Amino acid sequence: TAAPHVDYFAGLNPAQRQAVETLDGPVLMLAGAGTGKTKALTCRIAHLMATGRARPDEILAVTFTNKAAREMKNRISGLTQGASEGMRWLGTFHAICVKLLRRHSELVGLKSSFTILDTDDQMRLLKQLLRASDIDEKRWPPRMLAGIIDGWKNKAWTPAQVPVAESSAFDDKGVDLYAAYQQRLKDLNACDFGDLLLHMVTIFQTHADVLATYQRWFKYILVDEYQDTNVAQYLWLRLLAQGHKNICCVGDDDQSIYGWRGAEVGNILRFEKDFPGAHVVRLEQNYRSTGHILGAAAGVIDANKDRLGKTLFTDGEDGEKVRLIGHWDGEEEARWIGEDIESMQRGTRGLDAMPLNSMAILVRASHQMRSFEDRFLTIGLPYRVIGGPRFYERMEIRDAMAYFRLAVSQDDDLAFERIVNTPKRGLGDKAVQTIQMTARSNGVNLIEGARLCVNGGLIKGRGGNALRDLVQGLDRWHGQLHCRSNGATRRELLDDEDSVIDDGPTVEVFDGASNVNHVELAEVILDECGYTAHWKNEKTPEAPGRLENLKELVKALENFDSLQGFLEHISLIMDNAKDEEDDKVTIMTLHGAKGLEFPSVYLPGWEDGLFPSQRSMDESGLKGLEEERRLAYVGITRAEKHCTISFTSSRLVYGQWQSQMPSRFIDELPEENVEVLTPPGLHGGGFGAAGMSAQANPASEGMASTLHEKMAKADVYNSPGWRRLQSRSQQRPMTQPKESRNAVIDLKATSSFTTGERVFHHKFGYGEVMEIEGDKLLIEFDKAGEKKVVAKFIVSADS
Ligand code: ATP
Ligand code: MG
Repeated sequence: TAAPHVDYFAGLNPAQRQAVETLDGPVLMLAGAGTGKTKALTCRIAHLMATGRARPDEILAVTFTNKAAREMKNRISGLTQGASEGMRWLGTFHAICVKLLRRHSELVGLKSSFTILDTDDQMRLLKQLLRASDIDEKRWPPRMLAGIIDGWKNKAWTPAQVPVAESSAFDDKGVDLYAAYQQRLKDLNACDFGDLLLHMVTIFQTHADVLATYQRWFKYILVDEYQDTNVAQYLWLRLLAQGHKNICCVGDDDQSIYGWRGAEVGNILRFEKDFPGAHVVRLEQNYRSTGHILGAAAGVIDANKDRLGKTLFTDGEDGEKVRLIGHWDGEEEARWIGEDIESMQRGTRGLDAMPLNSMAILVRASHQMRSFEDRFLTIGLPYRVIGGPRFYERMEIRDAMAYFRLAVSQDDDLAFERIVNTPKRGLGDKAVQTIQMTARSNGVNLIEGARLCVNGGLIKGRGGNALRDLVQGLDRWHGQLHCRSNGATRRELLDDEDSVIDDGPTVEVFDGASNVNHVELAEVILDECGYTAHWKNEKTPEAPGRLENLKELVKALENFDSLQGFLEHISLIMDNAKDEEDDKVTIMTLHGAKGLEFPSVYLPGWEDGLFPSQRSMDESGLKGLEEERRLAYVGITRAEKHCTISFTSSRLVYGQWQSQMPSRFIDELPEENVEVLTPPGLHGGGFGAAGMSAQANPASEGMASTLHEKMAKADVYNSPGWRRLQSRSQQRPMTQPKESRNAVIDLKATSSFTTGERVFHHKFGYGEVMEIEGDKLLIEFDKAGEKKVVAKFIVSADS
């Protein structure tokens, strides 16, 4: 070909090179983990630019995470001397769709300033709808409805498109509730996550001119992790690619792990049918992992029946065997991993010192993260949690953001409901109902409704005065944010360069820029609404922390051009890109780790019921279990040189001690690729007497039983975890029967505390709730030991 001799070809094998050079028509790269799919995709983009096939902004490239998008951008930049700067359409499906939707929102009845709901808002909205249609929330929880609606959206079904066969959902009311929910969203000028794609698919299907514009605009389409696209994403891609059919998808059926969220691995298998004459490229050489790691991964995935089957080989060394270790409980597991990380950092076992950046802990369930965070905080080991939108989930951050949202859009009724009496303004449920009724009967938003209530004397006294102040404040902040020095609106799109597209419909939108500094305005808002003062006056132990968080929030705003830009970042991204440069251990879920690689990977919690999850084990058929196994495969194949798998024999799950059995996936690890470790400092004794015998577990034959023999040498009874557990189990059996697990769930409703929760007492310090008896709590304090105290003197130490 006429390709110039740029050095990105040098690092590719012939099959990859073929994938890069076949520019015209559909291309499918179907290959196992670590074979260089993403690398080839990245080079292909560089090649498209280098050969002048497309300008950076004419390339649509979809990645699975924001982190992956950033990495790809950096790599392309390296390959093309900065030409990736103009790649405005490289991102996740959601990030790309929100940009498109801002331009065309009026076609689905939204203003371009629409907000994106978080799950909190979504739940509040669904609850209101359930109440309005007299549905018992206990039998039909809002979360379940959210799941059903989300599933329909993933299939690209609008309420009118939900098939009759599915309409029995939610007591036959599902479809009506879905329709009502969509209507409410429209009234609020809002959409949820699933809408970003659904609306774009709807627009493309109903506005041929809009679709044609983008079909022409995006000359080349590239998709990474194609095996995890859902139907809506698939339709969206197919519509866009229909014209020129220059679409290149890469994926691995063995890594399809989002079936539970509507992903269809069938999309990848259907590619050749959808795009006849597609060029299929297969890659077999793995460049990421050592031989033992690959062997372990292959052993696990081999147990799946439903797979295409691919071979992988490496030219590299066998390297270190996968290490396997059992611990008494999650705390000990976290302690051991913390120590192992520290010794890897110093250099150990004749290995070179490794930076913390090169190590990752990949968990199955996010509740596993806490024991690592607790431990690492204690020993001062720097870590980052990826994918946990923790900071932005905190109460004070959400409250503050609700004020910001109202400054951006006065139609955001959900934000108004959140803050109308926060801080306390003497506006009780009755006042709020009056506002809602007034707003509804006048067909206006809640701010307008509140204004009518105040002016019409419907809400009087202290509450009335406070409401008048609030409405005036909201008007003022909104005005300050939206006023411009020249008073004119620019005919322009949200991000400045977007005006390059001149043949598509454009709309007049507020682009978020104004002549007040949005950081200063944010501070003013928090001061004037009384929220800062509220936490200053609060004498609880967590108040200073909350004030700190609010400061941090305002500081984070400095990285953005506008309040709206910031809010969008929060609703879509929620991770901190800056943080990536620091030398820290990464903690994240297995699902979030797809596509990434680390020299050293820890895979804790390989226990039946946790991994594979209980749900997948309870399910009839193998579908769920096979997906869990693919997840295990994804986990192991993230590792380059070191991979450490661990399990515990007892775990505190939602405040309950449960005895655990090693994961059935451990049995599937080929023995020749695995080294079983014994926790240091343990000797003699055995596991059997601890309530778990190897024979009792049907999955523990083979590998796990030899493991048990080796583990039997470990004297768990002398470990601090066992002693602690013994003192506890005198009050409570170690494993709770199902009924009492339900009892705990009921308790949550009546008491604000739950067993196992971390709490703080001003005199006794931090501790853990052991038992709840009415308003009295039995707490094991870290320093003061066990004490019974009255609930009102206790605050939660969580968050
Ligand atoms: P996954 O399925 O996990 O997403 P992948 O197929 O996308 O994996 P990459 O992440 O692209 O694989 O590549 C894995 C590793 O192998 C990377 O570190 C990459 O730089 C390296 N690599 C890929 N191709 C080659 C090659 N031809 N020569 C040397 N190293 C390569
Ligand atoms: Mg990849």
